[in-house]
Amino acid sequence: MTRLLAIGECMIEMSPTPEGTYAMGFAGDTFNTAWYARKLGGEELEVAYYSAVGDDEPSARMAGFMRGAGVVPELAVRKGGTVGLYMISLKDGERSFSYWRSAAAARSLAEGLDRLPAGKGDIALFSGITMAILPEAGRRRLLEVLAAARADGLRVAFDPNLRPRLWASDAEMCHWVSEAAKVADIALPSYEDEASYFGDVSKRATADRYAAAGASLVLAKDGPEPVLVLENGTETLVPPQIVTEVTDTTAAGDAFNAGVLSALARGLPAAEAADLGCRVSAQVVTRRGALVEIDLPGIGLPA
Ligand code: ADP
Repeated sequence: MTRLLAIGECMIEMSPTPEGTYAMGFAGDTFNTAWYARKLGGEELEVAYYSAVGDDEPSARMAGFMRGAGVVPELAVRKGGTVGLYMISLKDGERSFSYWRSAAAARSLAEGLDRLPAGKGDIALFSGITMAILPEAGRRRLLEVLAAARADGLRVAFDPNLRPRLWASDAEMCHWVSEAAKVADIALPSYEDEASYFGDVSKRATADRYAAAGASLVLAKDGPEPVLVLENGTETLVPPQIVTEVTDTTAAGDAFNAGVLSALARGLPAAEAADLGCRVSAQVVTRRGALVEIDLPGIGLPA
């Protein structure tokens, strides 16, 4: 069985309810991908989440949530530690996010890490957000461990997920994202963000940059515009689904990644993997929230 191991930070999510109270959930970019991949992967795919949490009640609830969703928690437990939290505010229909994550144990996820709980034939996913939350030594350690596992046959997927607010400077972000790209077999950048911070003049330029760093497969996302798939120098454009009413694009990219990685794990060709990513994310943008129920027959998968 193939294992998809997502690596990063899952947080408590507090989201407003119509009653004026808050509902507690759990989310975070790489975790969202794991959650969707579990739904999409069927019996053939095991999905696991690697992070660090505390030894308190919220940390235990987070691990319980993962188990309940069918995601295997691979969590280092830090004594006295806790997990991060974010709160969604709704004002005039616009969502804004406040974060309390500076004390999160996830920042220590690379401490003492010398082997990943995944190996030959498996897929590991990490992101620019995973890199951003780590101290410098942690970033180096994670990249070393990923590079070593990759040399042993692990496929490494990387979503740059550029979030300048999480970094000390744009230059620091671009530096570490470029370092991370060097260990990736599969790169999942979003063109608009990449153009803003790396100055790419086209989607192909974004894809070429990740291919030059070593990715044999790049899928450059572009919102409602075609996904550019670049595999070993060959380009294919895959059109997203037409969505007439976009409600909330939160986690669209994460759900897309889940479609892609679960399809690649099943051995599907890259263009079909991109198409599954588009079909999943097209459903996600029509519903509110990061983790939404997917109509599996609606995307051509068994329920
Ligand atoms: P990110 O959330 O990483 O910035 P994008 O906004 O590019 O990613 O969206 C990821 C994927 O979600 C797209 O490739 C597309 O398949 C789907 N998607 C996003 N916005 C739309 C939309 N308005 N209509 C249809 N599909 C969309």
